[in-house]
Amino acid sequence: MKPLNEITIAEARKLLDEGVATSKELTQACLTQIQSLDGALHAFLEVYADDALAAADQSDQRRTDGNVLSKLDGIPVAIKDNMLLQGKACTAGSKILQGHIAAYNSTAVRKLMEAGAVILGRTNMDEFAMGSSTEHSAYGPTKHPRDPERVPGGSSGGSAVAVAANMCLGALGSDTGGSIRQPASMCGIFGLKPTYGRVSRYGLMAMASSLDQIGPMTKCVEDAAIILDTIQGQDPSDQTTSDTEPFRISKLESRSSNDLKGLKIGLPKQAWQAGGIESRVLENTKAALAELEKAGAEMVEIDLPYADEALAVYYILMPCEVSANLARFDGMRYGLRKQGLPLFETYAQSRAEGFGDEVMRRILLGTFALSSGYIDAYYVCAKKVQALIRQAYERAFNEVDLIVTPTCPATAFRLGEKLNDPLAMYLEDVFTVSVNVAGVPAISMPCQEDGGMPVGLQLIGKWFDEATVLSAAKVLESELAKQ
Ligand code: GLN
Repeated sequence: MKPLNEITIAEARKLLDEGVATSKELTQACLTQIQSLDGALHAFLEVYADDALAAADQSDQRRTDGNVLSKLDGIPVAIKDNMLLQGKACTAGSKILQGHIAAYNSTAVRKLMEAGAVILGRTNMDEFAMGSSTEHSAYGPTKHPRDPERVPGGSSGGSAVAVAANMCLGALGSDTGGSIRQPASMCGIFGLKPTYGRVSRYGLMAMASSLDQIGPMTKCVEDAAIILDTIQGQDPSDQTTSDTEPFRISKLESRSSNDLKGLKIGLPKQAWQAGGIESRVLENTKAALAELEKAGAEMVEIDLPYADEALAVYYILMPCEVSANLARFDGMRYGLRKQGLPLFETYAQSRAEGFGDEVMRRILLGTFALSSGYIDAYYVCAKKVQALIRQAYERAFNEVDLIVTPTCPATAFRLGEKLNDPLAMYLEDVFTVSVNVAGVPAISMPCQEDGGMPVGLQLIGKWFDEATVLSAAKVLESELAKQ
């Protein structure tokens, strides 16, 4: 039998149900792994060892009493440091929020706790989720579990490493332009960005509110489905959540034994023929496409225009929203405050000291793009192109059921390699951002391993059709496992 921290949520559930393992044993196994590895990897900003063990005890008691709450009852998970957990520090990886204590629970985390999940701790991230490497954390970078000289991707790099290095059974990340999928791809795990509006953003520290979405990061497709099933749903505290029919895990289970006959998969030529994709990425993702085809899916080349424009649109809309959202950090209401200065100086000095370079760069960009005289040329124009990108997806989805691309153009890069070259860092997001701009769901899943760094394939679905995304991913996962 595998060590308890190395199994999936689905496997752990079985062991719990059969009485072979307890939540306390699962939790202890994860805590031991954190203790032995996290000094080197720095996936966690804080570990709640005592609370986690107490929650595990309560879960075991519920099981003894026959009151199991859900499929997640007793399962140890980690959360990204931008989701509020009442009474605990929450910093969004920023110095400006050092020591900030959450006054209430975010909806997603509350739903996990109500399902009985055990929260192990909060994970490292790029400051306010801005970045693709987790190097922009004010608390130091997270390292790739296979090569500590490399980055794990970002901004949810802490959650990705916590899962990939078996320090937890699953984790939550947030994705504004790829921050769940890109680190999942680089670390060889599964990362799902749900449809915009599927999961409540209440209590998630806002980066770009019209694009942000919380989602699962896991070791298999089924685990992603279990977490999505738990955290999804309309929330009166988030007006952008949808009353669309929830994702039903049973849909996945009933379709899992079928192959992919009848499924039409679109391969956008703008993605697959793009220059600059690393050869290892191309080889491995193409091998995965062959498996999808073997499983019966019909592959068609499609036109998905505005692929290049999507990156530009994202890097206008996102900083505009960032500049507005981060205006609340003024040294008065939250976190760091420079003392003894006149009012304006207090604002300016608190922000200057509290924010890192990347965050300031984006606030400046956004403030500029929204300023009178420029708003039409930048923000309004980007909103128009966003509508065109949505239409391009709509047209594509009239023809196909899924769209598939590589998740990232390259595998994990070296620490420091792109830190001083923001544009190179932004190019990491070329295949992921249009998904947020359009609001559709997408998963990144690991392809065949070639002994080196992991490679991810991205499966993009129609609005609120996570069921098809996850079903296809599950079939591909089992085909790849046979090799
Ligand atoms: N890498 C992207 C950025 O820096 C995505 C961030 C995210 O999804 N939170 O904006």
